[in-house]
Amino acid sequence: MSATLMDGRLASGEVVLRLSRQVAALDFTPKLTFVRVGEDPASAYYVRSKERLAAKVGIASETRVLPEGTGQAELLALVEGLNADPEVDGILVQLPAPGIDEAEVLNAIDPAKDVDGLHPVNVGRLWSGRPGLRPATPSGVLALADRYDVPLSGARAVVVGRSNLVGKPVAGMLLARDATVTIAHSRTRDLAEVTREADVLVAAVGRPGLVTADMVKPGAAVFDVGLSRVDGKIVGDVDPAVADVAGWLTPMPGGTGLMTVAMVVANTLAAAVARRGGG
Ligand code: NAP
Repeated sequence: MSATLMDGRLASGEVVLRLSRQVAALDFTPKLTFVRVGEDPASAYYVRSKERLAAKVGIASETRVLPEGTGQAELLALVEGLNADPEVDGILVQLPAPGIDEAEVLNAIDPAKDVDGLHPVNVGRLWSGRPGLRPATPSGVLALADRYDVPLSGARAVVVGRSNLVGKPVAGMLLARDATVTIAHSRTRDLAEVTREADVLVAAVGRPGLVTADMVKPGAAVFDVGLSRVDGKIVGDVDPAVADVAGWLTPMPGGTGLMTVAMVVANTLAAAVARRGGG
């Protein structure tokens, strides 16, 4: 058996088209502001890819780069300024940043402009089933599942990884779609036994090849979120041989990462419309 590849390039292209049409119908231009501290090349790369996609759909963006060594107070003051700026619809602070207390920064962002969906108010909305901005990577996983008709309701879902960024929110979103969800992590006993139960398996760890073919139930939908660099190549948590067992699989690269970028832009449009009205 060979898994259907859940193509992030194709699916994100479709999202871009839909968002472009929606933005074109507005009588204002939504704006997304990125904040970066220091010159970490990986952060700069992620911001650039999000800026490029925003431009493609007609959303304006700007990046505020603060020099390395910027203090907490200065960063918080910048965030406060962006919260108060009526032209800014979305704020994305690229974290972690050196010497910065992440939780305090996330707390400071206006939840209505929190396009990363990581503010405690948005986290609470997710877990209490209320509308709100949802984190981008988990939204991308759900969007791919829908695009490829992966059944979620009643499915056994296993999420490997329990971070606030990916593992927990993707588990919450699968639960909201009526999956029966298990969250596994580094202390999970006999991980393979747990993952073999999964109709839907999400790997969000960051360990190349952690999920091998013998850990996957035949026909399962497997979402590879983990991202590592090995000998200059980007590899996921899922061994490529899983394609012989799974029913659906996201390629790496070309899967969940591209959807993450698209979902940040989708969140910016949603935040803009919620705050300013439909135009
Ligand atoms: P993280 O905060 O480091 O969390 C990793 C999780 O994996 C932790 O919950 C950890 O468990 C668990 N873990 C570690 N070793 C394990 C093992 N041997 N077996 C089972 N679980 C294990 O990372 P993150 O921010 O969630 O990101 C996860 C990966 O996704 C990274 O590779 C990151 O680069 C990637 N990522 C990709 C995208 C994308 O768009 N594709 C977006 C964001 C992140 P404990 O909690 O017990 O330590």
